[in-house]
Amino acid sequence: MTIKIFIDQGHNPGNINAGASGNGLEEQAVNFTVGSMLADLLDNDPRFAVRTSRMYPQQVLGNTTTMSLQTRVHMANYWDADYFISIHSNSNTNPAINGSEVYVYRRDSQAWYLGEDILSGIVENAGTRDNQVRVNPALYVLRATRMPAVLVELGYLSNSQDAQKLLDDPYSFAYGIYVGLLTYLNLL
Ligand SMILES: [Zn+2]
Repeated sequence: MTIKIFIDQGHNPGNINAGASGNGLEEQAVNFTVGSMLADLLDNDPRFAVRTSRMYPQQVLGNTTTMSLQTRVHMANYWDADYFISIHSNSNTNPAINGSEVYVYRRDSQAWYLGEDILSGIVENAGTRDNQVRVNPALYVLRATRMPAVLVELGYLSNSQDAQKLLDDPYSFAYGIYVGLLTYLNLL
């Protein structure tokens, strides 16, 4: 009985559903890299089956932002994934703001507990600041998915230390999410 994990590398290259940028990094590219590394970790673990929203770096999902998000959610719902992990990177006009956070649809849900373990895994492995699990029921990928869903903000591209970590060692973020997932599922 394998556990089905859907990984959504947030945003697209180009102008449709474009993400943040900062310190020379593009969010969509960072998300693609970390999400694909996480997919490789899960692919090499026979306890998991994995699918990703974007197959290759140039792939663009949807013709509008709405369609882009709907496509990702539809893929996960249609596959009947057990868990949905959307990978994002943050930005703020204040370059001092830094750290990792995880968004979920509501408190004290399975997604909430998964989010806590994923956040601990990232903070321990990548060395970012712990900004806690946060609730945001407005996020489409969290409210339209039919399985526990988390949206992970790896770090702030607008903060030079976070950006450097994401540039130098994206694997530490992917590995942190993987360890968090194993912790949540009692598979360590
Ligand atoms: Zn984003």
